Amino acid sequence: MPNRNPVYEAIVLRARESPAGDRILTLMTPELGLLDAFVFGGPKSKLRSLASPYATGRAFVYLDPVKDFRKLSDFEVSDSFPALREDLDRLWAACLMAEILIKTSGGGGDYPRVFALARDTLRGLDTAPPGRAAYPIVLFCWRLVYLLGLGPDPDACVSCGESLVGGGAYSFAHEGFLCPACSSRSRGAHSQGEEARERHGPNLVLGSSALRWLDVTASLPFGEAVAIELDPSSLASLKDLAFGLARRAVESPLASFSQGAGL
Ligand SMILES: [Zn+2]
Repeated sequence: MPNRNPVYEAIVLRARESPAGDRILTLMTPELGLLDAFVFGGPKSKLRSLASPYATGRAFVYLDPVKDFRKLSDFEVSDSFPALREDLDRLWAACLMAEILIKTSGGGGDYPRVFALARDTLRGLDTAPPGRAAYPIVLFCWRLVYLLGLGPDPDACVSCGESLVGGGAYSFAHEGFLCPACSSRSRGAHSQGEEARERHGPNLVLGSSALRWLDVTASLPFGEAVAIELDPSSLASLKDLAFGLARRAVESPLASFSQGAGL
């Protein structure tokens, strides 16, 4: 018989109201990926305020085997990341992260690593100096795309295999990086090139410092990686790349982008 009172490490990704006025949480867990749990009780219930979006901690769940639903019976908060709510950029980034996780069914099957990445991202956003909220969310998107098995090879041109040390461009049509020579060839190409460009948008040019950042941060823990600063134009191009890859991974429009905000 299944355990009716499982306990999960969890991040609250979203809270919504059921038609009956109960709250339904979407949790990210290392064991099961996403799971929904009801929180009963009025708007002033203590459990509701503990288990609010982006809180992490231990979720004590009651599993009703007959009605097949989960109820949250307690939530032991380990971190509520209060600074997220003090800054619109940070909050927007946390919301984007949650939306991407929900729309990719928990970021693919490697839930323990996705969970750790999400927690690192919230921690990074919570402690980001003013104006630095882009770093954790860019790194989240970039690393999640690899966990989903959709990450491009950042070292070599996808077309000719040439090294990218001198810079390059990301091609959404080729789903990979192109060296400057192949990138300008694909820009000039007709027929298939034009049609692909219309569908996927133009190649995204990345300077050598943006590519170096991707290379250097690849072997660093999250907290150290987000501390490595970029010049504004490299950061802007990495943002376009990371958000573009996230959009493609999700395969549907992201509400976070249509709600006007952004970094
Ligand atoms: Zn090439």
